[in-house]
Amino acid sequence: MKKIIIAIDGVSSTGKSTMAKDLANALHYTYIDTGAMYRAVTLYCLQHGLFHGDILDESALQQIMPSLSITFRLNPDTHKAETWLNGVNVEKEIRSMEVAGQVSRIAALGFVRRALVAQQQKMGKEKGIVMDGRDIGTVVFPDAEMKVYVTASPEVRARRRMDELQAKGDPVDYDAVLENVKMRDHIDMNRAESPLRKADDALELDNSSLTIAEQKAWLLDQYNRITAHTNS
Ligand code: C5P
Repeated sequence: MKKIIIAIDGVSSTGKSTMAKDLANALHYTYIDTGAMYRAVTLYCLQHGLFHGDILDESALQQIMPSLSITFRLNPDTHKAETWLNGVNVEKEIRSMEVAGQVSRIAALGFVRRALVAQQQKMGKEKGIVMDGRDIGTVVFPDAEMKVYVTASPEVRARRRMDELQAKGDPVDYDAVLENVKMRDHIDMNRAESPLRKADDALELDNSSLTIAEQKAWLLDQYNRITAHTNS
């Protein structure tokens, strides 16, 4: 069976990564969470004092960018891939509200995007990947055989993100999460560099009222339909 590239894009907190991970597991494909890469760059800036109040020292980040090492390693206990920054496991730290508050600003920088997109393209060279993000079907892999664009209402997404943070013992206020979800949508959709938009040939999935099992079934149906076509 020929391996393909599956690009999953959409607004934040739609459960894209859960869907993408499940699909990758079912197909024995590699899963790549590109949001984690932008989050790791943001964490680096926060940890190394590159934010002076609200001002980011862009030239310092530009200098350091080529030497930042962002990798994914499998945790042998949980069997889940985790994000490492310069040899340190940062999987928990990159999910904080502090990182979420700044990540869209960092992701709007052209030099950051170019560096990460080049790495993502390398990761997908052999195909057999499910990659989730904001620009995978439009910029990273415009020729991906399967593209999905996921949406859900901001309220549903804020509730899901809040439950997720609470489950990790990180209690947050619903209004603060809702505001963060809306702010990130706005920045992601309106930035000059690779704004978030649905690729013309992407399948759209509004998962506001779908269960995880229903989404999984929908994705596998689409995969089977597309690969029946590409393998014939
Ligand atoms: O997917 P996640 O919510 O973790 O992504 C964090 C942020 O990284 C997004 O809000 C967006 O600003 C940025 N991002 C991006 N392009 C990607 C993946 C994420 O701009 N391919």
